[in-house]
Amino acid sequence: MTPQLFDHHIHSDRSDGSVSLADRAKTVAIRPHGVSDHYPWRDKLPNEDAVKRYIDDATKLGLRVGIEYDLGVAPPLSRATHDALHYVIGAIHNIDVDGRRIGYDDAGAFVKGRLKEFPQRERFADPDLRRKILERTLAVVAEGIERDRIDILGHPTFSALQALGDPERVYPEEWQLRLIDLCVKSGVAIEVNEAYGVPHREFLVRAAAAGATFSVGTDTHFSLKPLDKTLAMIGDAGLDQEKFLAGSRRMAAPG
Ligand SMILES: [Zn+2]
Ligand SMILES: [Zn+2]
Repeated sequence: MTPQLFDHHIHSDRSDGSVSLADRAKTVAIRPHGVSDHYPWRDKLPNEDAVKRYIDDATKLGLRVGIEYDLGVAPPLSRATHDALHYVIGAIHNIDVDGRRIGYDDAGAFVKGRLKEFPQRERFADPDLRRKILERTLAVVAEGIERDRIDILGHPTFSALQALGDPERVYPEEWQLRLIDLCVKSGVAIEVNEAYGVPHREFLVRAAAAGATFSVGTDTHFSLKPLDKTLAMIGDAGLDQEKFLAGSRRMAAPG
């Protein structure tokens, strides 16, 4: 029997989720998962001391504990705090272009079906802005890998550009290969994200061909649901379940 895939990306009420750590600990028996709240997160996880308390509280409940580190925004974690986590997911939620921060909240709401229309479609039609977003994304991911030593790239290819439509047109193949290469070279796992439905099939196929490792992340903020969409994405791309992380750090760094 194939072991059940470990779900690394789950929120609790320690950031913007609706479920307590204690209740998250109860659903590990349904299918294996950890917790990974946003860092930083407003008044709930504002600094490293709060992260340490989060790690302590989750560990006492028997949870595997990660964090969703806000790439390009979060301050660096100390070595000790980084190492006390079972894994670090790095993810981009907004991007700094020419000194201005561009938020992805509307795009996220649209991609998740909470908005009928993407209100900023016109703005992101600008090819110059699109090119800058793509280049900046690679730089921010590279920094997360080198400086912050992330283990997993969370919702890769999610951006305001995803809300424009066909990812094969929005994301040039050459750019996709560069993003994949950054992950493969460093052993960083590429997350298959259920909430955003990313990355798309062609990206996953390219990543697998390049020797990538992968990670399941439903990114739920509410109750635990079956992995239906994730398993369909894995099946469609023909990914090998042996290549998935299982609640611990990147495969390149054993222990
Ligand atoms: Zn996220
Ligand atoms: Zn998340």
